Amino acid sequence: MQCYQHHDRAAVGVCRGCGKGVCAEGCAEDLGFGLSCSNDCSIRLGHVEALNHKAGAAYSAGRRYLWLGPTLAAVLAAMFLYLGWIEYRNAREYWFPAAFGLLLSLTAIVLFVRNRNWSRAIR
Ligand SMILES: [Zn+2]
Ligand SMILES: [Zn+2]
Repeated sequence: MQCYQHHDRAAVGVCRGCGKGVCAEGCAEDLGFGLSCSNDCSIRLGHVEALNHKAGAAYSAGRRYLWLGPTLAAVLAAMFLYLGWIEYRNAREYWFPAAFGLLLSLTAIVLFVRNRNWSRAIR
């Protein structure tokens, strides 16, 4: 393949932005992750690269926090169930913490099942 500007020179690679052949003498600009033929392509490729980094960061953050919701719900559920049990032992009104604890247990289970399906889907 020849350079897109200098037809007498061999291309060292292709521009990642437009796919044109670029020569080593003044045409190819190494961006670190690929070659670029012009300023316009460099700017465009810079945007694409930045977007890729952002998407990657969001993806790993999502995976990290995936289990935070169900874990939090499970801890709260255990706390309220324990509270209900203490109230029950002391012969006091125990239905409120007990019902709340059961509701949170259900939430934890639903979140856990949903997130397990999610993490399978995005693997
Ligand atoms: Zn280009
Ligand atoms: Zn050239």
